[in-house]
Amino acid sequence: MINLTLLGATGSIGKSTLAVVDLHPDQFNVFAISAHTNWQQMLELCKKYQPSFVVMTDENAAAQLTQQIQDKTVVLVGAKALDEIASHTQTDYVMAAIVGAAGMSSALAAAQAGKRIMLANKESLVLAGDIFMQAVKDNQAELIPVDSEHSAIFQCLQGGRSGLKKIQLTASGGPFLHTPLEKLVNVTPDQACAHPNWSMGRKISIDSATMMNKGLEVIEAHYLFNLSSEKIDVVMHPQSIIHSSVYFEDGSTLSQLGNPDMRSVISYAMSYPNRIASGVPSLDLTQNSPLEFYTPDFEKFSCLRLAFEALKQSGSSMGTMNAANEVAVDSFLKGRISFLDISTVIEKTLNEAEHFYPSTLSEVIHNDQSARAIADKIIKSYA
Ligand code: NAD
Ligand code: MG
Repeated sequence: MINLTLLGATGSIGKSTLAVVDLHPDQFNVFAISAHTNWQQMLELCKKYQPSFVVMTDENAAAQLTQQIQDKTVVLVGAKALDEIASHTQTDYVMAAIVGAAGMSSALAAAQAGKRIMLANKESLVLAGDIFMQAVKDNQAELIPVDSEHSAIFQCLQGGRSGLKKIQLTASGGPFLHTPLEKLVNVTPDQACAHPNWSMGRKISIDSATMMNKGLEVIEAHYLFNLSSEKIDVVMHPQSIIHSSVYFEDGSTLSQLGNPDMRSVISYAMSYPNRIASGVPSLDLTQNSPLEFYTPDFEKFSCLRLAFEALKQSGSSMGTMNAANEVAVDSFLKGRISFLDISTVIEKTLNEAEHFYPSTLSEVIHNDQSARAIADKIIKSYA
């Protein structure tokens, strides 16, 4: 039996992970779960899965849950407790599915404890890729991507990297692939969250609409596969059937295909190197034709350009960009700035922030906080 710690149990990835667990109760035990505020949903999950630990990072939510819970589950509170369940001696696999920089510390704790980390929280790598990858190496942790593109590349590289020329991430283009730039001025959060193929949390849905998600994924790929930005390509593919491709020197290309459903990706991370049922039906190619491909528009999707630039500049730029993006997306979701302001806020923050090469986690955290303060100040100037 594999003991699973699920960070971000109430989210989109969290729910899909539990759906896979439900298909294989003889193989996976839900050992610990976490969420931020939704204690009601956590109460239900505790009843169903009887985990040993539950972490609520929000204090009030923890108090409510503690009052209501009748099972043997121990309720822990606060962000530090995430690190505890991620590195607990009884934890075997950690699903790192908290959204944003809030997920970094616990993902790193899992790496330092030598666990299998199923990494959905791409922001960890964007913020602290060097430190994170070093921790994985030093502690013989197992890092399996839980992002459809990176899982695809990981799967295509199972035969080895000999003759590897480049990798190519596919991007659906989100809801605004064919919307002209001038029409993006007035889009609402609900329009921006309405992804045509994938059902996801609100932050990553906005990231998909701006294509910052692809930008974060380029950086994620740089760290996961140890490739320079010149070897990472992006192609628009609105159907989201080809999840990504690997190009070799001999003219061969390997791609991984499937229906756009994260349960395939999650079940692969849980069963690797084997495969288990995920609940996702097999692809019917005749129902998905034609498959289309386009070159990305870096002017319309300036977040993608900014991400490539930040990766080339390296050092603190990637963390600065991530922090400014989180602040800007949150402000957009709250109606404080417009959709097109998101990339402007990020670019202005990058121009204003000090650039340096963080070598410790505290420097990474300090940079994250000061970039948030700069982005906040820029947004206030809009009001
Ligand atoms: P979501 O918004 O649906 O869920 C986020 C989870 O994080 C929730 O359980 C929430 O309680 C928790 N959380 C939020 N703020 C927190 C905080 N401050 N401290 C602790 N916990 C907090 O998000 P999601 O769509 O499931 O995405 C999770 C991560 O997976 C993101 O990093 C995203 O980029 C990545 N990802 C998601 C998908 C997808 O299909 N949803 C695909 C690839 C990668
Ligand atoms: Mg992805």
